[in-house]
Amino acid sequence: MKYLGIDPQKVKIGVFDFTGCEGCELQLANKEESLLEFLSLLEVVNFREISSDSSQDYDIALVEGSISRKDEIERLTDIRARAKVLVAMGACACFGGVNYLKNQYPLKDVVKEVYGMHSVETSKVKRIADVVKVDLNIPGCPVSKSEVESIIVSIVVGAEVKIPKYPVCVECKQNVNTCVVDLGKICLGPITRAGCGAVCPTGKAGCLGCRGPAEDANYGSLREILREKGHCESEIEQKLCFYNAFNGSTEK
Ligand code: SF4
Ligand code: SF4
Ligand code: SF4
Repeated sequence: MKYLGIDPQKVKIGVFDFTGCEGCELQLANKEESLLEFLSLLEVVNFREISSDSSQDYDIALVEGSISRKDEIERLTDIRARAKVLVAMGACACFGGVNYLKNQYPLKDVVKEVYGMHSVETSKVKRIADVVKVDLNIPGCPVSKSEVESIIVSIVVGAEVKIPKYPVCVECKQNVNTCVVDLGKICLGPITRAGCGAVCPTGKAGCLGCRGPAEDANYGSLREILREKGHCESEIEQKLCFYNAFNGSTEK
């Protein structure tokens, strides 16, 4: 049986990094308890963090990071041309991620502040989908290791890819947490796609939305509740912009 044009018996996978911290790749590489079993289903032909192989013949390209240089556009375009399925992995790849904050400031000011006297080629940050066609997005900062594995296995065996559509609040309530909004914090859990186990609110920190929008997210109600709790517009906006995950979808 084929899925997205790939013969499941012969799936070759390449993992590629662009502008990002490589934390998503590390999540995969560090998952020792299931890494061998996971890799037994695949032929890893390009994954800098675990192998010195660098074949350009692959079926699935897992792409981490956002795009912030001209040479990255060229490399990504080449990867897209070779891959049957291209998967954007992590908030940087899916939304621009924390890197996208750079776009809020004049580029020359960012370069001066970050690199000082050094001459560095850098441009406005783009999501992977701004440059090439993306077949699947796996959100998160970092991604959930088990989610990446289960999605890749689904592609390989031809099963339906499942990513939760409901919000983080559902998992938070399953964890029997006290709502951090009632503790005076901003939490984007009501509008953010679940799947992380509500790890931030469980640790008493507000969700910053690294997994992107939940289905039918009610932005207006969240803003209203946060205003009622005394948070100002700029504070709310700052949280919503953190990963650029809600870009263009946060009506006031
Ligand atoms: S999504 Fe987060 S963990 Fe992954 S590369 Fe970007 S900053 Fe690093
Ligand atoms: S802490 Fe955040 S995720 Fe948890 S119930 Fe409150 S708003 Fe929802
Ligand atoms: S709680 Fe929110 S910010 Fe934290 S990991 Fe989950 S989706 Fe990301």
